[in-house]
Amino acid sequence: MKKLLDITPVCNWLEGAKRPLMIAGPCSAESEIQMLTTAKAISAIDDKIIFRAGIWKPRTRPNAFEGVGSIGLQWMKKVKEETGMLTATEVANTSHVEECLKAGIDILWIGARTTVNPFSVQEIANALKGTDIPVFVKNPVNPDLQLWIGALERINQAGITKIAAIHRGFHSHSVTPFRNDPKWEMAIELRTLCPELPIICDPSHICGNTDLIPYISQKALDMDMHGLMIETHCMPSIALSDAKQQLTPGQLSSLIEKLVVRKSNSENIEFKSKLEELRESINKTDDELLQILMNRMLVAEKIGAYKKENKVTILQTNRWESLLNERLNNASMMGLSESFVRSLYVLIHEESIRKQTEIMN
Ligand code: PEP
Ligand code: MN
Repeated sequence: MKKLLDITPVCNWLEGAKRPLMIAGPCSAESEIQMLTTAKAISAIDDKIIFRAGIWKPRTRPNAFEGVGSIGLQWMKKVKEETGMLTATEVANTSHVEECLKAGIDILWIGARTTVNPFSVQEIANALKGTDIPVFVKNPVNPDLQLWIGALERINQAGITKIAAIHRGFHSHSVTPFRNDPKWEMAIELRTLCPELPIICDPSHICGNTDLIPYISQKALDMDMHGLMIETHCMPSIALSDAKQQLTPGQLSSLIEKLVVRKSNSENIEFKSKLEELRESINKTDDELLQILMNRMLVAEKIGAYKKENKVTILQTNRWESLLNERLNNASMMGLSESFVRSLYVLIHEESIRKQTEIMN
């Protein structure tokens, strides 16, 4: 099968690339002093951290701080000269790309509000033709995997192979503790479709506050994500954008210290054979699970036929409510999570109804 994307591995273009790849810096460039103070404190933690700062800020409502604009590029240059860190910023149109290339910015990223718009992404892709600057693509605001992949493809088709995705969470109508729901399953699906694509997690925009950042950062590493982008500001409380979610360099340093970096895999023979054994046991259990589901559907079909004979409707709400409550009770005694078992039963019930409807008609 033809690969979805043509990717140059990070280790081939980033000197001394480490896992996790760390990107840190303020949400927005605000002043030369804010940039240099923040950058120096970050580079003191590790000068391999890539320095991020937004120069042009896409704000949801007008009249908010929309970024300092081009002058910020000069501060980025200074950060690079004085700390040696690579620099990264967000681009949303042709002139942003041109100005960044001229100013020697090392890495560009496309923001969540731009990824949603194929016209804008194509405009950026066209402006990138003939260059080989690395480009990271944030997920679109809404949970649409095709839009995310489409943006990566447009950039890739412009000849950019140093690419990565950034997982920054998704807008959600449900109540969640996050500013943007992580929906890890979206990142997993992207990984499955394109295993070579590095995915960097952005815990700052997922969390929207500083409390949950360590949890999301560790979870991202445990999901084998390639790196982390963490908003860091020398004085978060007076930041002009995203004040609530930015860490101080001190907090960033203790976060990095506490992160547990596990290996993607191990070559240890004992580990491999034990894992093999456990996987075999999962395969066997899954096989049993499918057979049980098959049996359940056969019983549902029988019930369907019986209801038809007796001219009774498919759905009896009371029965469904009491069945679900009983299953949830049993499941909780078995230590299974309520939300998991509830979603599972909704699916099973839907499928039973579908089968019974087939029989009725
Ligand atoms: C940002 O990184 O500051 C930003 C605007 O992020 P996003 O595009 O993920 O909202
Ligand atoms: Mn931000």
